[in-house]
Amino acid sequence: MWCSRLLSYPLSQGQCSSYRARTALAQLNHVLEAELESIRGAGTWKSERVITSKQGPRIHVEGSRGEILNFCANNYLGLSSHPEVIRSGLEALEKFGAGLSSVRFICGTQNIHKNLEEKISRFHQREDAILYASCFDANAGIFEALLTPEDAVLSDELNHASIIDGIRLCKANKYRYKHMDMQDLEAKLQDAQKHRLRLVATDGAFSMDGDVAPLKEICSLAQKYQALVFIDECHATGFLGPNGRGTDELLGVMDQVDIVNSTLGKALGGAAGGYTTGPKALIDLLRQRSRPYLFSNSLPPAVVGCASKALDLLMESNAITQSMVAKTKRFRSKMAAAGFSISGNDHPICPVMLGEARLASVMADDMLERGIYVIGFSYPVVPKGKARIRVQISAVHSEDDIDRCVEAFTEVGRKHGALP
Ligand code: PLP
Repeated sequence: MWCSRLLSYPLSQGQCSSYRARTALAQLNHVLEAELESIRGAGTWKSERVITSKQGPRIHVEGSRGEILNFCANNYLGLSSHPEVIRSGLEALEKFGAGLSSVRFICGTQNIHKNLEEKISRFHQREDAILYASCFDANAGIFEALLTPEDAVLSDELNHASIIDGIRLCKANKYRYKHMDMQDLEAKLQDAQKHRLRLVATDGAFSMDGDVAPLKEICSLAQKYQALVFIDECHATGFLGPNGRGTDELLGVMDQVDIVNSTLGKALGGAAGGYTTGPKALIDLLRQRSRPYLFSNSLPPAVVGCASKALDLLMESNAITQSMVAKTKRFRSKMAAAGFSISGNDHPICPVMLGEARLASVMADDMLERGIYVIGFSYPVVPKGKARIRVQISAVHSEDDIDRCVEAFTEVGRKHGALP
């Protein structure tokens, strides 16, 4: 018997299979420990700080005393702990329960799900919308349902991981064009003429760099080569454009972008959930074919209630959206004046470019000691040698909060040689 050959004493059949399982586990642990050690060795270990309060501009963090100014949430409009958003979530919880214990097509659709889908399509001025448990799921579910081996998808090389994974799952012909490079996109569109459908897929705003896709140019190329345009608006919905409709509104191409995927987990209340909005026939198809929709639970009522109220607030007035714009400008211009290099343009994602992974990580730790919560990003989240601290501005930061953040960066930057 296999294990008797390794041991000097005989084992029963049961003992033998348990020994084999333990050996396999020991082998796995050995492999995992080596992998974990290599991550630590590269200085790219991501540890999680523990927040003990609600999400907001001021939070409490385990191990730190007093209030901490939070500059790293996707809480762009401060709606994650807006009293009306919370109240709406509580009301939905009371009236519609904790959850549906079901997927949508079995017995998981409530009127609040239908109402939220209608509200999302009205907000984006599209024909229909479909909810998912997350935008990751919306991205995982769209390409495979929509595209066949007869079709082609053309994707920006820096698209979000969930778009990349969604595209991997589909059988269409795949083209990856250089980041925001319209010449390269055009060359790939020319090559893709031989396929039935062409879909250009891009983040509206890129989350690691704070740069905005050149949608005007993308849409005109799409028109020229008869392609569809898909955008992921996770870092745009609610706050880019005069009324917060997103990158397509900002760049004046709402009528030329065919499909929008976005999240309820960032500016729109920050709970969770994602969606696709676009032509009705596409949404009908997704309800029939999209695997993360068909095989995963429907959104919990409390989450639906929060997102629904966030959209109401944004459709009533654009005041919150506008206040974020001014604060972003203040931070970017003060940091540039202090000597930092901030990537991207006019987006509340303000990456402070530092280069070295360790420098980003120690500076972020020192910022926390000064009461400012920011996080260093390094490989594999961003390319090697392009580590940064990603600062995110929210409508609910005060001017004083922003000034305190810039002062702390200046002090810490001098201490670690990031500034002269
Ligand atoms: N797309 C982009 C560009 C994102 O930044 C994220 C989240 O980080 C997602 C998709 C996934 O969104 P969700 O958190 O709703 O799954």
